[in-house]
Amino acid sequence: MVTKAYGAYAADKPLEAMDIERRAPGPNDVQIDIAFCGVCHSDLHTVRSEWAGTLYPCVPGHEIVGHVTAVGGEVTKFKVGDTVGVGCLVDSCQRCPSCADGLEQYCENGFTATYNSPTQDPPGHTLGGYAQRITVTEKFVLKINHSEDRLAAVAPLLCAGITTWSPLRHWKVGPGMKVGIVGIGGLGHMGVKLAAALGAHVVAFTTSESKRQDAHDLGAHDVVVSRDRDAMKAHRGSFDFILNTVAASHDLDAFTSLLKRDGTMCLVGVPEHAHPSPNIGVLIFGRRSIAGSLIGGIPETQEMLDFCAEHGIVADIEMIRMDAIEEAYDRMQKSDVKYRFVIDSATLAG
Ligand code: NAP
Ligand code: ZN
Repeated sequence: MVTKAYGAYAADKPLEAMDIERRAPGPNDVQIDIAFCGVCHSDLHTVRSEWAGTLYPCVPGHEIVGHVTAVGGEVTKFKVGDTVGVGCLVDSCQRCPSCADGLEQYCENGFTATYNSPTQDPPGHTLGGYAQRITVTEKFVLKINHSEDRLAAVAPLLCAGITTWSPLRHWKVGPGMKVGIVGIGGLGHMGVKLAAALGAHVVAFTTSESKRQDAHDLGAHDVVVSRDRDAMKAHRGSFDFILNTVAASHDLDAFTSLLKRDGTMCLVGVPEHAHPSPNIGVLIFGRRSIAGSLIGGIPETQEMLDFCAEHGIVADIEMIRMDAIEEAYDRMQKSDVKYRFVIDSATLAG
């Protein structure tokens, strides 16, 4: 089915309108009319080929919400009209131990990402949510229980929400823990909201003085402008867990030194250029860890969506037209996003 989309034909070309082909729903497929799609920094890294291996044309977008317009004959969980979401994954092998554990993002045979992964559909790699519709196998479609008027602000939960939720849950963040969130962008602002809702004492670290009050409003109990050395020093050796969402290369030691004995800093940001090598002494003297985490599996994504619906949590968004995407990327490069751009997919119609 011919579908209007927005993407790039090369790393050095701006995004533009294009027609793409979506498969007709097979027996296990759900066809979705996309209402809104969030703009993740990974979209920018990929479409500009900051990470190796981008396939063109590239249509980014993996924070998708919309409504079901058709289902295959064997679909049981969804019906036409349902409000649904699709995140970063659209398939996985379903046979390996990670898939059996509901951690499809660690599929040992390689998951299928929502964009830039090999597929049998044209043009041979997946195309994401900057489009009017998408067809996805039932298992990778999520139920949305938020009220319809909050749908645009739910979109970012599909990546920014789950990418912060999964490590917060894995490292058992909750009451009695002191937790740092580094980088108050799309991921970081969700990290602050979720860690606070889980009952932790939350400290936000930002390079942007202008985000200080916002970070408090998002739920942080304390805010540190990380360029202020004295303010950083005051927190030395005090954190149980730090979630680092920064999208650029930076000095990790500034944060590992803030961990308690046995504390962990989990990296989720994937910068274009490597971080300087961490100081090993800081890790050894204190048995501290640096870890990483990738988005989240389908069961935990549903758990996070349900938790957010129950607790009234959505992202703080700025809605944009599809043709404003280049300007949105420019602002994202400058850390000037409060706190997630969301595309109104109706503007794809022209
Ligand atoms: P974003 O909205 O651009 O936010 C990143 C934030 O990092 C910025 O707002 C800024 O916050 C801070 N920052 C940027 N440049 C910095 C610098 N040079 N030094 C220190 N801080 C800086 O990006 P996002 O969408 O949240 O994504 C963040 C990163 O996570 C990206 O690399 C993205 O690809 C990655 N990601 C990973 C996963 C995963 O599964 N692991 C999933 C999604 C995204 P302040 O203004 O507060 O300093
Ligand atoms: Zn993302």
